[in-house]
Amino acid sequence: MQKTAELFAEVRREERFNLLEPEAKMVCMEYGIPVVRFRVANNKEEAVRFAGELGYPVVLKIISPQVVHKSDVGGVATRISNDEELRSAYERILATVKGNAPEARIVGMLVEEMAPESTEVIVGSTKDPRFGSVLMFGLGGVLVEVLGDTTFRVPPITAEDALEMVREIKGHRILEGIRGQPPADVQALVDILLRVSALLGDHPEIKEIDLNPIMVYPKGAKAVDARIILE
Ligand code: ADP
Ligand code: MG
Repeated sequence: MQKTAELFAEVRREERFNLLEPEAKMVCMEYGIPVVRFRVANNKEEAVRFAGELGYPVVLKIISPQVVHKSDVGGVATRISNDEELRSAYERILATVKGNAPEARIVGMLVEEMAPESTEVIVGSTKDPRFGSVLMFGLGGVLVEVLGDTTFRVPPITAEDALEMVREIKGHRILEGIRGQPPADVQALVDILLRVSALLGDHPEIKEIDLNPIMVYPKGAKAVDARIILE
């Protein structure tokens, strides 16, 4: 789609490979992939204003081309519930990131609605030398890291393929609702998988996508983090 193609061209011109998180989220939005509402603040008072517009609680995140894993360098603050907390979180993030990653050029601060906690899943892609882009689905959080509970398909995929992906991971029962929990909206996940497949089809220059995590609810799902890396 138009805006995504233009954005990728601009990123290339700037000799960058990693899209900034708000850029990756714009791409998601163009492809109809649901993401949390966000604003990009250039200073603390702007962040306060945006938090007011979005409504507390909010999340603050560092935006830097050099920072790929934001929480590793202290670049994420969640559950911010008023202006005072926001101002101190803003300063704390700047100071911590400067300490942990002195080389990082900070280009702004992401102010986001805080998505309610829920089951976390991951949708992503990597490149295989033989197959090209490969689409990945897995449960998020500890499960995906410890158990490697993931499944893969070569795009383009059909809705049946997407449903199979969701159902064949080891932890799929977590999505069906265990111990009285309501089942997760599997159709919303199928939809996201199809949309990421379409994005990969349009843009073979994508080296890696990482929607990690996506919060899935009894109705709907939302990506709270998005990373896109180009070849
Ligand atoms: P990174 O993966 O670069 O460290 P994330 O954006 O994934 O940073 O944020 C780290 C964690 O903070 C996420 O895994 C999620 O648990 C939580 N988080 C981030 N953004 C939000 C949000 N908007 N709403 C709720 N939780 C969030
Ligand atoms: Mg993340």
